[in-house]
Amino acid sequence: MKTKALDNPAQELGRYEELRQILERRRSSITSTIRDRVSAVRAHHGETNTAGVLDDVEAADADLQEDIELALIEARQETLQKIDASLRRLELGVYGLCSECGEEISAVRLRALPFAVRCRDCEEDHESTVRREREKRQRQFTLFAEPAGRDR
Ligand SMILES: [Zn+2]
Repeated sequence: MKTKALDNPAQELGRYEELRQILERRRSSITSTIRDRVSAVRAHHGETNTAGVLDDVEAADADLQEDIELALIEARQETLQKIDASLRRLELGVYGLCSECGEEISAVRLRALPFAVRCRDCEEDHESTVRREREKRQRQFTLFAEPAGRDR
């Protein structure tokens, strides 16, 4: 891995500064989006509290809206973490190397996803693992939420 770090693909591409700027820009735009969404959720909270007369359906609907907002915020925070990790990797001179297998991530992939930390193969493996985990949790949740429906 040491030898790999010496030929930094980002430097080979001569795009170190450009990459840093792209990452910083995405970072600040996502940060401000998160800030906006968080205050939107808070404002919404205030609204439902002062209204105080929501029936069950409305309340459930408001909860769902809020869950969606929170999921979106969470997804953006994940992206933010990826960007931070990429910036650190850029500083360390290991940017553009797959965090799993240590192979170079293709320039095409990095152009499309400047904060990718895995090569395509490792990312696909990772995503199917995450998906399986999520489905497992989803099944447990469904089982828990609708015990009657499972009784056929
Ligand atoms: Zn890999």
